Amino acid sequence: MSNLSYIHEKDTAWLTFLEQIERVTPYLSDLKEHIDVLKRPKRTLIVDVPIVMDDGTIRHFEGYRVQHSLTRGPGKGGIRYHPDVNLNEVMALSAWMTIKTAVLNLPFGGAKGGIRVDPKTLSPRELERLTRRYTSEISYIIGPQKDIPAPDVGTNQNVMAWIMDTYSSGQGHTVTGVVTGKPVHLGGSLGRVKATGRGVFVTGLEAAQKLNLHIQNAKIAVQGFGNVGAEAARLFAESGAKVVCVQDHSATLYDSNGFDIPALQSYAEIHSGIAGFPQGKKISTDDFWQVEMDICIPAALEGQITLERAQNLQAKLILEGANGPTYPEADDILKSRGITVVPDVVCNAGGVTVSYFEWVQDMASYFWSEDEINQRLDKLMIQAINDVWTMAEQHQCTLRTAAYILACRRILTARKERGVFPG
Ligand code: GLU
Repeated sequence: MSNLSYIHEKDTAWLTFLEQIERVTPYLSDLKEHIDVLKRPKRTLIVDVPIVMDDGTIRHFEGYRVQHSLTRGPGKGGIRYHPDVNLNEVMALSAWMTIKTAVLNLPFGGAKGGIRVDPKTLSPRELERLTRRYTSEISYIIGPQKDIPAPDVGTNQNVMAWIMDTYSSGQGHTVTGVVTGKPVHLGGSLGRVKATGRGVFVTGLEAAQKLNLHIQNAKIAVQGFGNVGAEAARLFAESGAKVVCVQDHSATLYDSNGFDIPALQSYAEIHSGIAGFPQGKKISTDDFWQVEMDICIPAALEGQITLERAQNLQAKLILEGANGPTYPEADDILKSRGITVVPDVVCNAGGVTVSYFEWVQDMASYFWSEDEINQRLDKLMIQAINDVWTMAEQHQCTLRTAAYILACRRILTARKERGVFPG
């Protein structure tokens, strides 16, 4: 249970993170005494975001930016636009960023932002006004050396362009490095849009190889068919796997022969979802977790793999494209059933890794080719999954706990060396 006054029993995302921290603590020897620093965010900002709607009325939205840790460098993490966004969720997402950047050894802390809004209900002009006002409200705590936002669920490169423009207007000059995931003409990086999905694929291949799981004809189920899920599905299908089940907000589709992923992608783009795609049959939302599969890729939101679903899941390997999809009690069941989970903090770190490359390129005003980006990305992802795998073997623990050991050692060593001001 959290001892923060503003966290309640129903705030499961943050409580999941706290439980993950409890589980790593026994492995941290002397660094344990610094662990409490991770159990609360360093800085939490809640802002009111009023905007004038197209019909002239004024509406207020609730926005957040949480900097969980700045110990190893500037804050880093996306901005989520979703009707369910709340403080507890943004705190958990910011904390997972702290762990993620440390597992990849990127020189960042962890942060996250969000607005409680369904972006689909706003016109493009309203979305722009919302983004610009939110940016202005959080502008005091973001910056290329302070905290660097990026896209997340419900945001994209257009939103990043408005953030960059609004922040730059306040500074009197163009500051490309304040945000990543920008359009390439504005200091964005080639390969950034596909980076998270690519990272899921690269770490997944590596894990499958270690488990002797053949990708050729492997059955894959993907939850979420956005930026992450669709790209991971495409790369796996290209490598000979069969993507037999796909779920998004609009439908759950099943086809034992495997979907034509590029066709499904074009269809989903045009129709804002996969519902109505001519191939495969529609099954119920919950049946997604019961289908015959070798690899499961949750690539939507947190809190998906519950204890019950973990008991029935047929996969041998889970690749967490989403942040926080698995509850701690489900982790225990999966472990006892011999199902390997490549945790979010490694599996979906491809996005923030190319964000790091984007930030470096912006600083240097020198840009790399897409091949160079992909090669560097693959190298860092393969290194990270291997480091985590070795750690798990050494301690006979799950890959999640192993990733946390690696990350917490890095973060808490930095914390110990910095000391506590004023001492
Ligand atoms: N939102 C992505 C994540 O959860 C990317 C964050 C970033 O690029 O800073 O990792």
